[in-house]
Amino acid sequence: MIITVTMNPSLDHAYFIDHFSPGIVNRFQTPRKSIGGKGINAGRAASLSGSKVIISGFLGGDLGQIVGRDLKDENLFELMMLPVSEETRRAITVMHDGNVHTEIVESGPEVSDEQAFHLMNEIKEKLNKENASVITINGSVNSNNKHLYKDLLKYIRTEISNEIPVLMDISGEQLLSLLESDEYKPTFIKPNIHELSELIGKSIPSKEVAIHEMSHPLFNDIDYIMVSCGAEGALFKAGDVCYNVEIPTIDIINPTGSGDATVGGFAYALEQKYSIEDTLKYAMACGMSNAQHAEVGVINKHDVELFMNQIQVKQY
Ligand code: ADP
Repeated sequence: MIITVTMNPSLDHAYFIDHFSPGIVNRFQTPRKSIGGKGINAGRAASLSGSKVIISGFLGGDLGQIVGRDLKDENLFELMMLPVSEETRRAITVMHDGNVHTEIVESGPEVSDEQAFHLMNEIKEKLNKENASVITINGSVNSNNKHLYKDLLKYIRTEISNEIPVLMDISGEQLLSLLESDEYKPTFIKPNIHELSELIGKSIPSKEVAIHEMSHPLFNDIDYIMVSCGAEGALFKAGDVCYNVEIPTIDIINPTGSGDATVGGFAYALEQKYSIEDTLKYAMACGMSNAQHAEVGVINKHDVELFMNQIQVKQY
């Protein structure tokens, strides 16, 4: 079983247009609506892979009701979504010429430390009754505590399990706080190449530069560091060993959520105890398959298996 945590889910609207021009009226067809939130997307990919998945987090207001109902209807996961009084957020993506052009993302309900620890306690109680193989914490949280995710990791390690892999796909100051801490480290992080650049405050023009930066002291003691590079595949570091993951060129429909599907695939592969190479191939193939679907977090397992044969993992 895999548990994913999404502190700030959303109701996503994707608008498709051939040419989007800022500053004038752009007319769109009805948007494609979907449920967003990185942990939900990762959970979707893990569930479609074959794992039992619990998605956890917070929902509020009318939009929260819609999201909760639609998530139930998907029939892919067990829900552990706690109610909050503020409205769940909306996120709008404008797709122009097949690519993400503009995103408008609301900040969403503020999560207090008390609510966040209440959620962790619910997860702890669940894990007293059932075993889980992986916990993932994905995406942003609207919190005034910039150390919240670091604190939650400490809670997981001290109150839930010191052994369970914890995958943290987070960015910005929450990630920085986690990386700067000497206390507990996540098992896995997955900044994309832009997030890596933001994190270390340097431009990263190539995979060669990125692989060098992955030895930055900030990443010490993290078992697995993946830097995803969109259509260029990814880089990966496990201990002192670095890998370049090369993927074939494919036609894509919507790459939104490819990173989330990659994390969901990674969680599934860990649960299945795949080798490092197959884990990387599986995770990448999930990102690729996601990019071939209009829906976010959706993968086709058959395609994933075919892609795996076309992905090359080379040790540096
Ligand atoms: P994020 O969504 O977190 O920014 P990436 O864009 O790096 O993450 O995508 C994660 C993975 O999804 C990539 O490493 C790759 O395997 C796959 N992917 C993303 N975009 C494409 C693309 N245009 N073509 C093929 N695969 C893609």
